[in-house]
Amino acid sequence: MRSLLALFAAAVPAFASAQPVSVTFPNPLSRSRNYYMNAQSAPIIIRADRIVDGKGNVIQGGDVVVENGKIVRIDKTASGTPTYDLKGYTLLPGLIDAHAHLSWYFNRQGRYHTRADGDTPVESMLSMAANAYATLMAGFTTIQSPGDPEDKDLREWIASGGVPGPRVLTSLSPFNNERMEPDTLRALVRQRKTQGADVIKIFASKSIRDGGAQTMSDAQLSALCGEAKAQGMRTMVHAHSSESIKASVNAGCNQIEHGVFANDEVLKLMADKGVYFDPQVCLVFRNYLDNRAKYEGIGNYNEAGFAAMEKALPLAAAMYKRAIHTPGLKVIFGTDAVAGAHGRNAEELVCRVKDGGQSPLDAITSATSLTAESMHLGNEIGAIALGLQADIIAVRGDPTKDITTLRNVQFVMKGGKVYKNEP
Ligand SMILES: [Zn+2]
Repeated sequence: MRSLLALFAAAVPAFASAQPVSVTFPNPLSRSRNYYMNAQSAPIIIRADRIVDGKGNVIQGGDVVVENGKIVRIDKTASGTPTYDLKGYTLLPGLIDAHAHLSWYFNRQGRYHTRADGDTPVESMLSMAANAYATLMAGFTTIQSPGDPEDKDLREWIASGGVPGPRVLTSLSPFNNERMEPDTLRALVRQRKTQGADVIKIFASKSIRDGGAQTMSDAQLSALCGEAKAQGMRTMVHAHSSESIKASVNAGCNQIEHGVFANDEVLKLMADKGVYFDPQVCLVFRNYLDNRAKYEGIGNYNEAGFAAMEKALPLAAAMYKRAIHTPGLKVIFGTDAVAGAHGRNAEELVCRVKDGGQSPLDAITSATSLTAESMHLGNEIGAIALGLQADIIAVRGDPTKDITTLRNVQFVMKGGKVYKNEP
């Protein structure tokens, strides 16, 4: 009840004050603290065989102690009576997906949902909530959605504690209009900020199904990423071709998505400019191919589109290998989860190791502390470390030896609250 009241107070600030009040959320995590960090008093002790801290270290044995939603102690030698005794398990920070589309789902006809399929807003929102729940149960405690206007309500309701799901950051509507003047784009970036976006999402190239060539001009990209920077906002850019990546980096954008056709020159350029790179090795392509009948015939989900995605699989794996071997390049974790992939996000981690040649420990670091850093949340989430939010998951066995253990996350804590404990 307390959290419900807090939610309404925040949702209708005009009732509480005669003056118009603007509500902005500079730090997405402050929402969850305000709304639902409850009055948990007794410390929670979680004991497991080992702790993977998300920063590249493995601690053998020990306890993690949680109080008031935060990690307050990491005891290398177990002491005291554990609240959760996870013998045979490994603790990790909650996983983070920098690119997940919670609003994508299959409708009751078993087809990819589009705005014209007759589903009601209620059906769509419940489907989103189900996607959020599946994602949290899979061990992902934070996601970034690029993006949909509906994300905003889901973000707030999850933050209130009323709906179970990962912390949500969203771009709200992305920018993909290639005909807009730079001044118009700048104004729309400011509007998106006012609307409550956490990040600006831009399409600088076509879809992989349409060849991936550059769409936005250099001037448009400069307007978007320049204005976002001036407004203190991050930018993430869909870009497949090397020229679209180069244009985006030179325009001052912060993060590049996908990059199936990235050559060595642009990989190095991203590294030199400190631009985060969020490539995908397999899940997004395989999910479309596995669910072909549910997508086929809608938009660019046609014969040529599916052929392009089939061709992308080996290209993406080869590019990923070059990316992780590019000195200084910050390769973060994003799945581009769409309908059919929610809750299977960890499959992308398995591919990164098996097809992309990354070590399991590096893949885990990427999907935790490095992705948190890309969101400017490195001091809040992404590691099992003192003072951070208690976003902690557990898997049986040792994920640094067998990455497939992450397919079965059996314990999920977010902000000190246990959402799953199914050993
Ligand atoms: Zn996407």
